[in-house]
Amino acid sequence: MSRKGKKIWDVIIIGAGASGMMAAITAAGRGKSVLLLEQMDKPGKKLLATGNGKCNYTNAHMQAECFHGDPVFVQHILDRFSHQDCVAFFRELGIYPKEKNGYFYPNSEQAASVLQVLERELIRRKVTLLTGTCLKQIEQDSYSYICDTSAGCYYGKNLILATGLLAAPKLGSNGSAFGAIKELGHRFMPILPALCGFYCDGMPFKKVSGVRCEALLTLSIDGQVAEKERGELQLTDYGVSGIPVFQLSSPAVRALYEKKAVRMQINFLPQMDSKALSEELQGRRERSYEEETAEQLLCGLVNQKLIGVCLVSAGIKPDTKTIMLSDKCLRAIAKVLTQTEVTLLRVREAEYAQVCTGGIRTTDVNPDTLESLICPGVYIAGELLDVDGICGGYNLQWAWSTGYVAGQSVG
Ligand SMILES: Cc1cc2nc3c(=O)[nH]c(=O)nc-3n(C[C@H](O)[C@H](O)[C@H](O)COP(=O)(O)OP(=O)(O)OC[C@H]3O[C@@H](n4cnc5c(N)ncnc54)[C@H](O)[C@@H]3O)c2cc1C
Repeated sequence: MSRKGKKIWDVIIIGAGASGMMAAITAAGRGKSVLLLEQMDKPGKKLLATGNGKCNYTNAHMQAECFHGDPVFVQHILDRFSHQDCVAFFRELGIYPKEKNGYFYPNSEQAASVLQVLERELIRRKVTLLTGTCLKQIEQDSYSYICDTSAGCYYGKNLILATGLLAAPKLGSNGSAFGAIKELGHRFMPILPALCGFYCDGMPFKKVSGVRCEALLTLSIDGQVAEKERGELQLTDYGVSGIPVFQLSSPAVRALYEKKAVRMQINFLPQMDSKALSEELQGRRERSYEEETAEQLLCGLVNQKLIGVCLVSAGIKPDTKTIMLSDKCLRAIAKVLTQTEVTLLRVREAEYAQVCTGGIRTTDVNPDTLESLICPGVYIAGELLDVDGICGGYNLQWAWSTGYVAGQSVG
């Protein structure tokens, strides 16, 4: 490939998602000539979908322990562009923050506002954005990296790779650059969907699909308790979903990948244990009238739709008269309500995931600059790195922080 007559950019950034746009604004702010390539027809498509369209762009409780990946590496990056820096950066661009229990949203509660101010800043910083331009291959000559794209070749002294992984591929991150990135010599940790639901063995909640309820979840891997999480569980025809499931998804999906046994215990009454619930049920039985059924006994404790399913799981017909229920039966009901066990078979597909775990090994990049240790002049930002956060603004903060560090260091 020849570079004759073609401009050589200081930096070419692949991917105009959250991290790529931040990297472009930062590098251009340092006087670098920046070309930002995006394969979709518009930048930031995924950003528009974040936080149910409201964009939870950061979180006040920003610590390495909220991420999966090397904690020293993560903290080092977060220290360079912190939660406070993020709020100040967007405040400067016009995003007035709205905080709810530490979760930050734009005051407009519209992700479109966040995208709009970023696009405006790209223009103000004179970043050249080319949409509908898919990177296919990267080559190198003695002057530059040559990006072979669907719209021709572009030449850059440095590259920032910000293509994301495979989560929600319809929004852009579809792996189309992986071949080129691997050809440069980068090694990927297995890419697996996270922050999404799981298929459960036997589809135990098919009949109560759609029910949402507060629950305490205990994840166990090969029989050992791994993590606990409380929040609004969603029961679905295929299994389990909802925020507490998302928060447990990264360790669960990695364990499933390693062929370990992954189980989830559900306490539908997180404020009680099995013993306390048995006593509550005994009290209810004593107060019951002759015709009262087991189904009526549980009224008001959990979602009405769950009652029948839980009684059947406990081996009790819902129309059994309450007075016929022995202490043993009540203990069985209490056990089901507080210790229902499901086996997680597999994670849902990447199209339903908010992020993916895995990606380029963090040991292959310089933690001070995010420059690749394999390819000098190539920098890695965002989800493409082997770091993923829990739900709550952590993944976008990771995109902003890594975009900033790469943009500050490049060249
Ligand atoms: C539905 C949903 C809701 C979410 N909500 C939140 C939230 O509220 N808070 C939060 O913190 N996180 C949220 N996330 C996660 C967050 O959006 C991502 O972690 C973040 O966007 C990752 O940024 P990125 O720049 O690394 O990658 P991406 O945003 O995926 O951007 C990568 C870009 O690269 C482009 N690209 C890929 N390959 C090529 C190629 N070959 N050539 C050119 N361009 C290419 C893609 O088209 C894409 O635009 C959510 C995710 C989803 C899917």
